[in-house]
Amino acid sequence: MASQVKIQYIEPVIREKKEYDPFIEATLQYERAASFLDLEPWIYQRLKYPEREIIVHLAVNLDDGRAETFTGFRVQHSSVRGPCKGGIRYSPDASLSECKALATWMTWKCAVLDLPYGGGKGAVICDPLQMSENELKNLTKSYTLAIRDVIGPYKDIPAPDMFTNAQTMAWIADAYSQGTGYLEPAVVTGKPINLGGSLGRTAATGTGLFIVLNEASKFLDFPLADKQVVILGFGNVGSSIAKLVHQAGCKITAVTDMFGGIYNAQGIDPFELEKQVQNSGSVVDFPDTIPIDNESLIKLPADILIPAAVEGQIHKNNAPDIKAKIVLEGANGPTTLEADEILKEKGALVIPDILANSGGVAISYLEWVQDLQRYFLSEREIHARTKRTMKKAFWDVIEIMNKQSVSMRDAAYILGVGRVAGSLRALGRHL
Ligand code: NAD
Repeated sequence: MASQVKIQYIEPVIREKKEYDPFIEATLQYERAASFLDLEPWIYQRLKYPEREIIVHLAVNLDDGRAETFTGFRVQHSSVRGPCKGGIRYSPDASLSECKALATWMTWKCAVLDLPYGGGKGAVICDPLQMSENELKNLTKSYTLAIRDVIGPYKDIPAPDMFTNAQTMAWIADAYSQGTGYLEPAVVTGKPINLGGSLGRTAATGTGLFIVLNEASKFLDFPLADKQVVILGFGNVGSSIAKLVHQAGCKITAVTDMFGGIYNAQGIDPFELEKQVQNSGSVVDFPDTIPIDNESLIKLPADILIPAAVEGQIHKNNAPDIKAKIVLEGANGPTTLEADEILKEKGALVIPDILANSGGVAISYLEWVQDLQRYFLSEREIHARTKRTMKKAFWDVIEIMNKQSVSMRDAAYILGVGRVAGSLRALGRHL
């Protein structure tokens, strides 16, 4: 039977953000670390750029009978220490530059935790909030088939990121496994439990943030009880850390998301807020709060600021007004280099993304190991191992920070880039 679908071809647009370029930021951070490490020229060059950047165009059937072409990316920054590892993001603002930056940051993040991975990242330019579940499934399967040859349990292992979740990972596992003839759960992490997902993975990044925050509170002698916390972004990462700091006795005074924000000086209950977000899709109009925007949230007199949305939100124009003593980077790349300098001068402790939000990949690693062995650990074992790994990474970074009198970000980069450089040096791979 002839297809009834009316094909409408829409020219794909590869957007690049003009005013803020995440890959330039990531490259400048790398160059700074390279200068501390005095890298050999061949190692410096080899790690400066991603190994591979793929652009795919996906023709996807929509529910109304039209078809649309979506543009997707997969970037593999480094496979020096093992398979590439990194999330997949669905967003109208996704870009190749963003994927390159996120893949690069993943390489350093995995090395800070001493995991046997390099960094990867993928994205599809789309508006997931305007798409049905069926359309998202078609898009995901089409994207998976387009990148199928370069992903796999020993090549590159995707995971959820903004606007993708366990269901997305299940669709990827299915599309990938159609070519293997058997279910290959280890091709993705962050899957549903009944497909080889790991206990603790959904809230993993929040769990990791909290482990690191606890260590920071000991380091600074800054008990968490009664501290005021503001959180920019209330998705997977923002909501999970919100619940943990609330349980630790902190007061969450403001939260924003992509639709707006809420403020209550007396505190916001994240468990109730999560229920609202599950129903309405946004934090906006939460009872007993007044509206607030991102810029005002960032400048509030809070003790702890947690960016948990997109890149570049703490910049040179708002950094001078930040009052928080701790900036806990839940998001990837939330602070520009210029803002970093300002915060350093103000004496704030910025716990950098490549350490702070590494709980996601820490538990993803355990999921991958479990999948490869088809042998599963208890939630208790997973938490204990994650805690051990992240606490060690935190104090490794602090040791470098103290010894070399550098910022915590510089220390994390010295550790991460230094480890990857060391592996590359041992391989002697000049090509
Ligand atoms: P998510 O899609 O679950 O949630 C994103 C949240 O950010 C939503 O509340 C959304 O409304 C909000 N948001 C988007 N744009 C915004 C804007 N301009 N202003 C205010 N809020 C905005 O995504 P997530 O998984 O929670 O990821 C958030 C950040 O954490 C991203 O930077 C991601 O790369 C990073 N991260 C995620 C994981 C993970 O395991 N999910 C791991 C490490 C790092």
